[in-house]
Amino acid sequence: MSIIQDKVVIITGVSSGIGEATAKELASKGAKLVMAARREERLASLQEEIQSSGGQAIYKVTDVTSHDQMEGLADYALKEFGKIDVMINNAGVMPLSPVHEGKINEWDTMVDVNIKGVLYGIAAVLPAMRERTEGHIINVSSVAGHLVFPTSSVYSGTKFAVRAITEGLRQEEAKNNIRTTIISPGSVATELTDHISDAELKASIKQQSEIAIDPISIARAIAFAIEQPSDVAINELVIRPTIQEL
Ligand code: NDP
Repeated sequence: MSIIQDKVVIITGVSSGIGEATAKELASKGAKLVMAARREERLASLQEEIQSSGGQAIYKVTDVTSHDQMEGLADYALKEFGKIDVMINNAGVMPLSPVHEGKINEWDTMVDVNIKGVLYGIAAVLPAMRERTEGHIINVSSVAGHLVFPTSSVYSGTKFAVRAITEGLRQEEAKNNIRTTIISPGSVATELTDHISDAELKASIKQQSEIAIDPISIARAIAFAIEQPSDVAINELVIRPTIQEL
């Protein structure tokens, strides 16, 4: 039997890209999924697709920037499935721009979704995991959480933060038998670049993304981290297209 069988897994940002691929991969391995994002029609159609292939999935419309809604998501998982084995904080946004353009609203959104969303996700599941002295928190950072390039200052800042928070959490919670994993993808073919507001920059980033790999590659890496025996923690994985230099 797969180690993933019957694990209760919460995933945020499941309505497209990496989250959607991960939900399908884990469902095919027998996980009980609790899926979250803001677009309900996508959540409903994904649930239908998973259920019609024999998988188990429930969903709750959730904005990760709301602490209350993230607590509500964890409560829903506990109410429906009685435990939370894995939390995957995947939701993220990447409206790249140079700092001098001062796109304050986009900075706020990146900080709120990419950093505070991850913190709220951790806060929502940690008490129950500490009580059981068991659990796994997987946070999606980026290659941009390891390096910076022009226009990525704020996005990279948020993704560096995800790595710092996850490593601190690892050290604090090791004694409580709670595993942490940082996932740092390179270029992956998703909707992430759609929200870059500068048309020229968007076109150039989209061109660079021609080498992008399918989100299933990241989903498989996440499944690999979950599949390890409980005394083994895969703390960090960087997954790039083979031909991506930076
Ligand atoms: P997508 O744009 O395809 O997916 C992003 C997901 O995040 C969507 O499901 C979206 O759902 C959700 N989301 C955005 N804002 C919120 C919010 N406020 N509350 C809840 N959900 C939200 O991009 P990816 O799949 O590529 O992104 C997934 C993660 O991977 C992100 O953290 C991203 O930074 C990271 N990443 C991606 C890379 C890539 O090349 N694609 C490279 C490195 C890292 P909805 O709008 O329905 O709420």
